[in-house]
Amino acid sequence: MSDDTQNDHTHHSHPSQPDIEDQPYEYYQVMAEAVGELLIKKGVFSASELRKTLESIDARSPADGARVVARAWIDPAYKERLLADANKAAAELGIDAGAIPIRVVENTDHVHNVICCTLCSCYPRLLLGLPPDWYKARAFRSRVVREPRAVLHEFGTSIPDDVEVRVHDSTADLRYMVLPRRPSGTGGLNETELAAIVTRDCMIGTALPDASQSAS
Ligand code: FE
Repeated sequence: MSDDTQNDHTHHSHPSQPDIEDQPYEYYQVMAEAVGELLIKKGVFSASELRKTLESIDARSPADGARVVARAWIDPAYKERLLADANKAAAELGIDAGAIPIRVVENTDHVHNVICCTLCSCYPRLLLGLPPDWYKARAFRSRVVREPRAVLHEFGTSIPDDVEVRVHDSTADLRYMVLPRRPSGTGGLNETELAAIVTRDCMIGTALPDASQSAS
């Protein structure tokens, strides 16, 4: 770092952010590091393989889930396969959804689905990438199961009273993803254009796809 850059930092007001090491180290973080080090030492996998795996998990994004949703919208047979076995259906599109089962729950005229993890942050990461901070927040986790309509309203999503709201609690063994309803007025969009209107929150269930977001 040059002296100029250092000066910039001293003179600008710079919001302070704690270093990650300054956060309290929790039991399971210590365990994870210890087990990771041990497995590398024993040659089960190399540090580079571990890094590559973490990098590939971090590279996942909601675009993967959106591709799955768009295909389900245009291909009813694919949708059936998706609802029966999401991991297998994702593999058809070249997406490795991992070994933990993901169940796709379909929004209909009568049912709106929302996903959460009341205990921690279980999330279909291999289809949606890393969960947003609010998904991991205690406020969301505890309130969405008790008053889902109110929580959805705060997200700007109003669900009519005659539509049932179902909340699905993800676990370490089973994760959920929402298949939103295809909005009206999207008949002219192709698969790629459809995928572009499927946002992360639509697949969590806190938002609905907005056809006016499409480029065409
Ligand atoms: Fe969890």
